[in-house]
Amino acid sequence: MSGNIARATRPGGPALVDRYEALLCDLDGVVYRGRDALPGAGPTLSRIVAHGIRLAYVTNNASRPPEVVAAQLRGLGAPTPPGCVVTSAQAGAAHLRRLLPVGAAVVALGGPGVQQALKEEHLLAVPATRREAAAVLQGYGPDLRVSDFTEAARHVSKGAAWVATNSDATVPVEWGVAPGNGSYVDVLRRATGREPVVVGKPEPPLYELAIARLGTRRVLAVGDRLDTDIDGARAAGVDSAWALTGVDRPTDLVANPDRALPTFVIGSLADLERPYAVPVPTGSGWACGGAEARVQLVSGRPELVISAASRSPTLAVVRAGLAALLEARAHDRSLLPALVAAAASLDALVDALVDALVDAQGDAEGDAEVDAVVEAAEG
Ligand SMILES: [Mg+2]
Repeated sequence: MSGNIARATRPGGPALVDRYEALLCDLDGVVYRGRDALPGAGPTLSRIVAHGIRLAYVTNNASRPPEVVAAQLRGLGAPTPPGCVVTSAQAGAAHLRRLLPVGAAVVALGGPGVQQALKEEHLLAVPATRREAAAVLQGYGPDLRVSDFTEAARHVSKGAAWVATNSDATVPVEWGVAPGNGSYVDVLRRATGREPVVVGKPEPPLYELAIARLGTRRVLAVGDRLDTDIDGARAAGVDSAWALTGVDRPTDLVANPDRALPTFVIGSLADLERPYAVPVPTGSGWACGGAEARVQLVSGRPELVISAASRSPTLAVVRAGLAALLEARAHDRSLLPALVAAAASLDALVDALVDALVDAQGDAEGDAEVDAVVEAAEG
């Protein structure tokens, strides 16, 4: 599917999202944080879908079946067109289906999402205790036991195909981060001396599965993590928008020269519906939407100098500041530690932007509550 899409004209000019036919949207840190929707995410995605842009949610989390994820998204007010949730368990099962005949026994080393994905590909999901199996599909499963890994190691050592849904070392939990699938993959890797095929972001198969489902390569991948979402977009050969509502901050981008640079930097999903202000070089620095930033050497040490029309933190400052820091990094790699230190001011700015986003929503909800109380009193 591709071709012309008739879209209504937007009042403020063409929006960033209008350059694409589809979005590949990450979940945690983009649509929600923990249990709470990120303010405006659901309505923004609903309008984008109504505007004729296709949508897939692309998640490295293999433990939950797609319809469980979709139900959570609906509960948060996000649109869920049919087949919109694409998981790394599905990418892993699809990969195995190309290697194995229908009905082949595959150890489902993970949560219900892993078992279900195998079933959908007409493979036989079996427990690790099974005597013989053609393959092991390993994804995150909070209820896995040490004995499951012992048995899985037996299959992997005997030469069973081994596919890992993703290699994220950690998963976010309420108090911080806990071991993720990548940590448990390391357990089997050390025990067996083998390497799995990994299908989740940043490896291409998961994004490729979503792209095939959407039927277009004119896609924009949106994510908050540079090492999975943004690197993965580069590996899959598609554009990316780095959302600042999640875990990574400007220092993370500046500190890792081997990371892919995102095509766009957005404060939140809401920026997809706005025209994109690109930073432009001024000769001495970088300008973006009323903000200017340059890197200046003070006693041989680089400092980030920012001037902005507005005193409140803006995304334009972040974009201009990042452009200046990345240019300085490309110019002289030895400045890297000092540039990372200079990027900390942008981290603080991003934190303030995200706090303002969340506070604005809280205020709006507070106003709605007051309205409801007033209406009840008046009624
Ligand atoms: Mg994320």
